[in-house]
Amino acid sequence: MTPDLTEIYRLQKEIDRLNEENQALKADFQKVQDFEALKSGADEIRSLAEKANRIQTDFLSMMSHEIRTPMNGVVGMTSLLLDTKLTPEQHNYLETLRVSADNLMGIINDILDFSKIESDKLTLDNNSFELRRCIEESLDVYAQKAIDKGVDLLYMLQPDVPPYLVGDMKRLRQVIGNLVNNAIKFTDEGEIFISAEKGVETKEYCEILFSVKDSGIGIPRDKLSQIFEAFTQGESFANRRYGGTGLGLAIARHIIGLMDGRMWAESTPGKGSTFYFSAKLKIAETPTTKLYIRGQIPELRNNRVLVVDSDQTTRQIFSVQFDSWGMKAFNAASAKEALQTIHSEDTYFDLGIIDMQLPDMTGIELAKAIKEIPFKGDIPFVLISSVGKISNLPPELFDAQLTKPVKLAELFDLVLSVIAEARNKKKLEADHNFDKKLSDKLPLNILLAEDNYTNQELVITLMRKMGYNIDSVDNGRKVLDMMETKKYDIILMDVQMPIMNGMEATSAINEQYPEGERPYIIAITANAMPGDRERFLEAGMVDYLSKPIRFKDVQEVLVRWGRKVHANNGL
Ligand code: ADP
Repeated sequence: MTPDLTEIYRLQKEIDRLNEENQALKADFQKVQDFEALKSGADEIRSLAEKANRIQTDFLSMMSHEIRTPMNGVVGMTSLLLDTKLTPEQHNYLETLRVSADNLMGIINDILDFSKIESDKLTLDNNSFELRRCIEESLDVYAQKAIDKGVDLLYMLQPDVPPYLVGDMKRLRQVIGNLVNNAIKFTDEGEIFISAEKGVETKEYCEILFSVKDSGIGIPRDKLSQIFEAFTQGESFANRRYGGTGLGLAIARHIIGLMDGRMWAESTPGKGSTFYFSAKLKIAETPTTKLYIRGQIPELRNNRVLVVDSDQTTRQIFSVQFDSWGMKAFNAASAKEALQTIHSEDTYFDLGIIDMQLPDMTGIELAKAIKEIPFKGDIPFVLISSVGKISNLPPELFDAQLTKPVKLAELFDLVLSVIAEARNKKKLEADHNFDKKLSDKLPLNILLAEDNYTNQELVITLMRKMGYNIDSVDNGRKVLDMMETKKYDIILMDVQMPIMNGMEATSAINEQYPEGERPYIIAITANAMPGDRERFLEAGMVDYLSKPIRFKDVQEVLVRWGRKVHANNGL
């Protein structure tokens, strides 16, 4: 049998092909083997890296624990101490201690968190917070430092900025604190001004635009972009006496990035720098208990306050604030201007805010000069100083003092208490001028309609001092009922009452009783606005008293209308 050459040829080819395949398989096998080796090497590297990472994480968490434990002691004990009986001054110091400890915790956390930032693992909290508090707490920590350097620390929150936002207050506080701290560090005179304004508002968020402006050494143009990089400091242009880690701005910019914002700086060497940043935050609902911070407060509404400060920014801040409380602010840039205002204004002031350092006098000299002005000078004063608390402040001149930066909550409490106290003092003084025998001279049947129990008590006591025993009810309906049983000469009628208000009751009385047979009705109103008098007179009331009721006014009104009663009766 002759071998089929074609077949041999085909088999030979098949052998070659199998050989080739074998070679390829061998190469693949080698590759697999190589790969396995590589893989085990890589695994080893990975496990080493993981181990290193774990050690680093363990170290960080151990450090974090070691540092946090004593810090918690500081913070916790401070809180406990805050709950004990303290003088307002101690409370204030302790509050600052608490905020400082909190901020220190924040810094430590930052250092520990820096690795997180590097690996993009830093996340933000989302809680509702009060922006004003956030800014004030950021400033609190550095206030003393600013005072020590003689630099004014001011801030202004535009009234249209939503008061409550949702976001990470601690991180925001840290960013503001960092910029303020830098600003103080690099400024030797002048002022540091922090402002917050509203930017774009959409359904999802409200953009807040912040700026921190200083009048310090400034930053050279070529360094402006570098300062936001980690571990960068302007050593070459500012010597190392300033200290710092060089991490602050890098962290701040990163945090702002997480808040969908931007951060940048503008600067003129020798003149100062402004750091700008924005943040997009959700608007939170405003808790009703804190509404007063922005709303108009009955006790303060229409109160007139004189603000004397040479610094335009400060005056503006006060004006915006007082306006938002419904007060009327009058500004003066110097002692001379203040004195002119008091002389020219055809009315009184309920409060005066005077800065210690005025261009032409000290605040104390001005207060003294004003107090000497007859009839108009009896104004309660608050002294504002940028150099810490002034001891031995003459109590006959000033009712209180505040240091810059003025904190809103503190200002609010103080203004309320100073105005209330001044009113009490006036009441007491008026007390001495009371005609204790008025009821003998002018016997009258008086009915009081007032739904507020405290006010009722007040008027009853006051009447008693003049010898009158008056009847009282708490709504207009009851006034009509009482009139069926007794003939009254005078009714003191609160305008706003439940069930039947003062205006309705007055119309009803006018309908039911002919002129000459009805009592004189005197309105008591919380807000005597222009035009109110006409409205009351139109409704049939004869006069009005505005709250807070001044004792002297009541006596005057009684004398005026009591005499008419007696004249009508031919007495
Ligand atoms: P540090 O902790 O060193 O202050 P930062 O990152 O906060 O680090 O700041 C970096 C550098 O930017 C500072 O060392 C300083 O040179 C410069 N710088 C920051 N803020 C100001 C400022 N307000 N005025 C002048 N220079 C500033």
